[in-house]
Amino acid sequence: MLTLCATPIGNLADISLRTLEILKESDLILCEDTRVSIRLLNHYNITARLESYHEHNKNSKTASILRQLREGKSIALVTDAGTPGISDPGEDLVRACAAEGISVTATPGPVAFVVALILSGKSTRRFVFEGFLPSDKKERLAVIESLVNETRTIILYESPHRITKTLSLLLEHLGNRNITLARELTKKFETLIHSTISDAIVEFESTTPKGEFVVIIEGKDANELKADSAKKWINMSFEAHMDLYLKQGFSEKDAMKKVATDRAISKRDVYAQLKIN
Ligand code: SAM
Repeated sequence: MLTLCATPIGNLADISLRTLEILKESDLILCEDTRVSIRLLNHYNITARLESYHEHNKNSKTASILRQLREGKSIALVTDAGTPGISDPGEDLVRACAAEGISVTATPGPVAFVVALILSGKSTRRFVFEGFLPSDKKERLAVIESLVNETRTIILYESPHRITKTLSLLLEHLGNRNITLARELTKKFETLIHSTISDAIVEFESTTPKGEFVVIIEGKDANELKADSAKKWINMSFEAHMDLYLKQGFSEKDAMKKVATDRAISKRDVYAQLKIN
C-alpha cells in the first residue's frame, strides 16, 4: 500500500504518532529532497530506505514504484513540508495507483494554507485555494483576472522573492483589499501581518520580505459585486433587456425575474419601468 504522510511545515513536533509508525515500518520512503527529509528521519530515529520522488523524476520512477507496490511493499510518500499533493508531488502517483487498483491511504497533518486561513480572521466558511500563481506571465494574469469577482476568501502560496511583485499585480487587478500575510508558520519567527495590499507593499519597501508566505485575500464584497454587475445594464432599455430573455424562450414572468436580478432591483421595479416606457 502507498501512504501519503503529512510532515511538519516548520516545527518538527507537529507530526502524528501514526505518521511516525508508518514511516518506521515502510520498506521505502519517497521524498522530494533527501537532504531535507533525512533531518526529520534522523530526529525520530527512522532508518527506512529513502529515495527521491519529485517533479523532474516522477514520470521515470512511476513504473518501478507501482511494481514494488504490486509486490506487496509498503511505500510512504512525504514532501519537504506539509501534505503531499498540495502544491507538492503526489497527485500523479495517486492517479496512477487508482488506475491500477492499488490501495492508497494517508496520515493527515499540517497544511500551510489551512493554518494561515484559521489565523487570518478572514471568512473561513467559503474559500478558494489557488496555490502558487503560474510563472508564465499570461497565465498568471488570467488567473488573477478570474479572481476579480471572487466573493470567497482567496488563498495563495508565494515565495519571498516574488511576493512584492504579486502584491502589486493583486492591487492593480483586485483593488486595495484587506489581506493577511502568514509567514514562517509554526516556526520561531511566525508572523501574521494583517493589512491592506498597498500597506504591505509599502512595508516591503523598507524591510526585505523573508521566509515562505501564505497570502489570504478578503473576497469581493457581495453587495459591491451586485452593484458592479447592475452597472453593465445601465445603457440598455428595460424593453430591450426583456426582449433578450423572451427571445431565449423565457416566459414573461421568468424574463422579468432575470432582468430584476441583473439590475439588482425588485420585479415590481422592472414592472413599473416597463409600464412607464
Ligand atoms: N505541501 C505543502 C502544504 O501542505 O502546505 C505546501 C508545499 S509548497 C511547495 C510550499 C509553500 O507552502 C511555500 O512557498 C509557502 O507558500 C507555503 N508554506 C509552507 N510552509 C510554510 C510555513 N511554515 N509558513 C508559511 N508558509 C508556508
